[in-house]
Amino acid sequence: DAAYDVIIIGGGPIGIACALTAQRAGLSYLVIEKGCLTNSLYNYPLYMTFFSTSERLEIGNIPFVCINPKPNRPEALEYYRRVTTSNQLNVKLFEEVTGIIPNGTEYMVHTPKGKYHGRHVVIATGFYDIPNKLNVPGEDLPKVTHYYKDPHFYATRKVIVIGANNSAVDAALETYRKGAQVTMIIREDGIGKRVKYWVKPDIENRIAEGSIKAYYHSGLAAVRENEADILTPDGIVTIPNDFVIAMTGYQPNFDFLQKAGIALSDDAKKYPAYNPLTMETNMPRIYLAGVVCGGMDTHVWFIENSREHADKIIQHIRSRA
Ligand code: FAD
Repeated sequence: DAAYDVIIIGGGPIGIACALTAQRAGLSYLVIEKGCLTNSLYNYPLYMTFFSTSERLEIGNIPFVCINPKPNRPEALEYYRRVTTSNQLNVKLFEEVTGIIPNGTEYMVHTPKGKYHGRHVVIATGFYDIPNKLNVPGEDLPKVTHYYKDPHFYATRKVIVIGANNSAVDAALETYRKGAQVTMIIREDGIGKRVKYWVKPDIENRIAEGSIKAYYHSGLAAVRENEADILTPDGIVTIPNDFVIAMTGYQPNFDFLQKAGIALSDDAKKYPAYNPLTMETNMPRIYLAGVVCGGMDTHVWFIENSREHADKIIQHIRSRA
């Protein structure tokens, strides 16, 4: 098989931006995505609204037309799908990349379905596949989830929401409004500073009036079929419980990066090594793009400030040709 100029791993917003930029530059390219198109966005909560306005989610200067200032999940799916189909981007779906093996001056990108040669590889795999674990007894019970989807499921149930950032706050408010009895377990002393400014008063008022119960400086200690233990500053409190929604964040697939030879910083942040001017990693001709760049700091990069990675990478590849 002929080698592609560039193989892009991950069909999220930034992988698609890289594909669009490569296509416009006349490079041969292939996107390989393990799930459906924009798999992470597809798996977001059903009714989530982006914190970014629509023009900041645009890629390749293609307008994202939207009536409300901030688009919701189906509108974003619509946008990235139309960008992909109307530009006839070359994307393989439901094919997971399992390894990137050096082969002379090229790389072989392996999937269960085949091997692809690429002169350059872009890793745009995001961070939404691996949740940060709580490491408490009972975490593996089916009643515990790290992926919140639809509030109706929790109607009339006793729900614990762990965390105090956007995902936790959205899950707490939505399930409360569908009739769940909600208890938040919060490590810090209040709701997170990055919570969407128009949502923050809503959650703070629900907690102040007692509609949603909150334990601060607290953590989940254990969960069982019908109850849960919360470690609070006053000791262990046991409460009846039907479901736990653990919104404790996610992390990039560090094993995958390391197997590809990419160095990570020694500290807890595990920052992957790359040149910020070109996005090239310590492995020649392997690049990083999108939110995967942040290591454990998953809030540093988002669509608005990482879509430019596509231009940096494709410019660097062209300058070498
Ligand atoms: P992703 O969208 O995560 O795409 C990575 C893709 O790679 C996925 O489709 C995944 O399936 C695929 N993949 C992973 N491993 C492999 C593999 N081995 N082989 C093949 N494919 C693979 N950002 C904003 O800018 N504005 C917002 O309002 C916003 N709201 C958010 C709300 C929520 C609930 C969450 C979780 C995140 C939000 N973000 C927001 C951050 C957002 O996730 C990222 O900005 C955006 O998804 C980054 O795009 P990406 O392409 O880098 O990564």
